Amino acid sequence: MKWTPGGRSPNLEDRRGRGFGGPIGIGGGLITLILALIFGPGIVTDGGETTGSSYGDVGLSPADSAAEEPMVQFVSFVLDDAQSTWDASFDRAGSSYEPTRLVLFRGGTGTGCGMGQSAMGPFYCPLDQRVYIDLDFFNELDRRFGAPGDFAQAYVLAHEIGHHVQHLLGVDERVRRAQQSNPGAANELSVRLELQADCYAGVWAHSANQRGKLESGDIQEGLGAASAVGDDRIQERTTGRVSVDSFTHGSAQQRASWFMRGFENGNPDACDTFGGGV
Ligand SMILES: [Zn+2]
Repeated sequence: MKWTPGGRSPNLEDRRGRGFGGPIGIGGGLITLILALIFGPGIVTDGGETTGSSYGDVGLSPADSAAEEPMVQFVSFVLDDAQSTWDASFDRAGSSYEPTRLVLFRGGTGTGCGMGQSAMGPFYCPLDQRVYIDLDFFNELDRRFGAPGDFAQAYVLAHEIGHHVQHLLGVDERVRRAQQSNPGAANELSVRLELQADCYAGVWAHSANQRGKLESGDIQEGLGAASAVGDDRIQERTTGRVSVDSFTHGSAQQRASWFMRGFENGNPDACDTFGGGV
């Protein structure tokens, strides 16, 4: 992407240093452990595999924190750019956009949806309207998922912001109700929700491209990342088998094609993954 470091976003919440060293850290870890035991995971997560191995704010040393600063600035740029795009889009539709906050954490952190852990991958919590990410996920995206590049990271962030857009539109709530009344369709509905967030990421990419922010190869990086976090790819890597019925996010092909649909259309109305609504 073409961008210049412009400081931190006002909607960024940095919890990476929390819990690093000292007695306060130990106490914080204990409290979060208790919270984790009470709430358990049970949140919608993206791209991660819940192992349950890490609880509490692990924290980040000041030196490691400084080393991550360029990534923090890039995340801030994408967050602000995507949110101003959605702000304009909501404005055109005659409604108003409420920004989400993006929480950076390391290891684990308390969220409105219970205990958040790095192993879950990035996720959005509708109850506190925040996006949570451990920046180490971007290293995993490169090494473990084989999806390098700044636009791969931008896609991940834009997908999570897409979940916030769904929340503002009430889509997630309608999906949750439909899942409760028809448990047999719960996974299918989850896939449609995820594919719509991919499409919304593409809608933002369309706007960024129009404003000259994309470089050649960016869309390929985005498509690579969307495919890499497809259920079939993840299942194949973790279990060696693919079970379509258990998909919750969509196949690599579906995810890439809905991202592309959003990118080509540039209009959120093109992202009707529910075929007429839910
Ligand atoms: Zn998602």
